Amino acid sequence: MEQATTDDAMFPFDNSYARLPERFFARLPPTPVAEPSLIRLNERLAHELGLSPERLTTPAGIAVLAGNQVPAGAEPLAMAYAGFQFGSWVPQLGDGRAILLGELIGRDGVRRDVQLKGSGRTPFSRSGDGRAALGPVLREYIISEAMAALGIPSTRSLAAVATGERIRRETYLPGAVLTRVAQSHIRVGTFQFFAGRRDEEGVRVLADHVIARHYPEAAESDNPVLALLGAVMERQAALIARWQLVGFIHGVMNTDNMSIAGETIDYGPCAFMDSYHPDTVYSSIDRRGRYAYGNQPSIAQWNLAGLANALLPLIADDQHAAVELATELIQSFSTRFAQHYQPGLLRKLGLASAQDGDLKLAQDLLQRMAENRADFTLTFRRLGALVDSTSKDDASVRGLFEDPAAFDEWLVRWRERIRAESRTPAEIRSDMRSVNPAFIPRNHGVEEAIEAAVERGDFEPFEELVEVLAYPYEDQPTRARYAAPPRPEQVVRETFCGT
Ligand code: AMP
Ligand code: MG
Repeated sequence: MEQATTDDAMFPFDNSYARLPERFFARLPPTPVAEPSLIRLNERLAHELGLSPERLTTPAGIAVLAGNQVPAGAEPLAMAYAGFQFGSWVPQLGDGRAILLGELIGRDGVRRDVQLKGSGRTPFSRSGDGRAALGPVLREYIISEAMAALGIPSTRSLAAVATGERIRRETYLPGAVLTRVAQSHIRVGTFQFFAGRRDEEGVRVLADHVIARHYPEAAESDNPVLALLGAVMERQAALIARWQLVGFIHGVMNTDNMSIAGETIDYGPCAFMDSYHPDTVYSSIDRRGRYAYGNQPSIAQWNLAGLANALLPLIADDQHAAVELATELIQSFSTRFAQHYQPGLLRKLGLASAQDGDLKLAQDLLQRMAENRADFTLTFRRLGALVDSTSKDDASVRGLFEDPAAFDEWLVRWRERIRAESRTPAEIRSDMRSVNPAFIPRNHGVEEAIEAAVERGDFEPFEELVEVLAYPYEDQPTRARYAAPPRPEQVVRETFCGT
């Protein structure tokens, strides 16, 4: 019988990172687990990647997704990186519990990493066990897929597998492995790893790799590395604007958790806001609110300044000139962010024609929402219905405000402004519905789904939540309860990374 060829490999790997110098990573296979069982395979994503869901769900497929079998063509490795964690420099982090199996090119022609997370110890594990608990794996699955469905760049979840092992955290918890797919797992902290060691050659090789892989247009520029920095910044500005517009709080925006490709990555204690307030923080480890909702744009800029710093030797031979060029670029972050955020915010309000005072009108609403603890998601979603309705429907929105009169005043002005739009009310309403989701992964819903799985081995709530969140802009009347804000006793105030 003929040997298996690449044509019928389970994963048609085409690896590029594994070709980089050996000091970029440590080569090692995942550590097998006791008793793998599939929790969920993301069939739609498997199709997009050109993979066979049938094969991935066979015992041989599940063995690969658990790390018990290294598939043909894989070149497993743990990537090296560094990072600023809560502002403090850590010269070496790296994949302490993840293994990059390889890269494949999807049906869309885009190259993507396939990584196992929770796959055992690596040389970068420090004191960690290299494993992931079931709860955080389900959390990442739910939220990363919800982000993708919202249209926000994100790493994806291809599969979750239970390991049949218990891992030690504060108590013993069931273990799991997540198969994560990303345009790449290269981080701001990957550049900082080499820069921190004064390994200029390493920074150069990485920059070349990143330009070829993610930003080929930068290669055409007179100053490709400066163009790279600008392009990374542009994607981050667009990304953070999208986060702000749906109320997503990442929670741990360390430079090692910021993707060079501009995808949301490393879902830990992240959360979507229920009631709106710019100071909102959920992460239990973010004691001082460094990564609060309202700080996310300025933290992104701070992280990009760190990237600029790592790239300085490649920007110009004269370091004074390099600093000047980089500083000017990084200072333009706020403007670039606003170019994404402001039109996005106005669109959430049904305002497409951009008139003087529109931004003030929007900010006034946000302030009233903050003062009245109004639900962020529902305020915008329901507002769409008020474009052409009688005042009896107003209750659906005004009831979200502690003092409904605060909304009434604003509504009068908004309705007046809306009349100046050239579109019909139906058009405005439908456009608002396409940017204001009905369904977000609400903290209490996520916690309920995780608790059912972890405490009772019941994965139904997880499955159902994933299905609902796949269509966030549709009404899904039979699943309306998933759109509801938490009742007072359901409010989640703190989220944990659980690593
Ligand atoms: P995170 O907060 O998950 O982004 O991880 C920060 C750093 O800690 C990275 O270098 C991770 O690889 C490492 N890490 C997190 N959890 C573990 C674990 N259970 N075992 C080994 N390393 C870990
Ligand atoms: Mg991380």
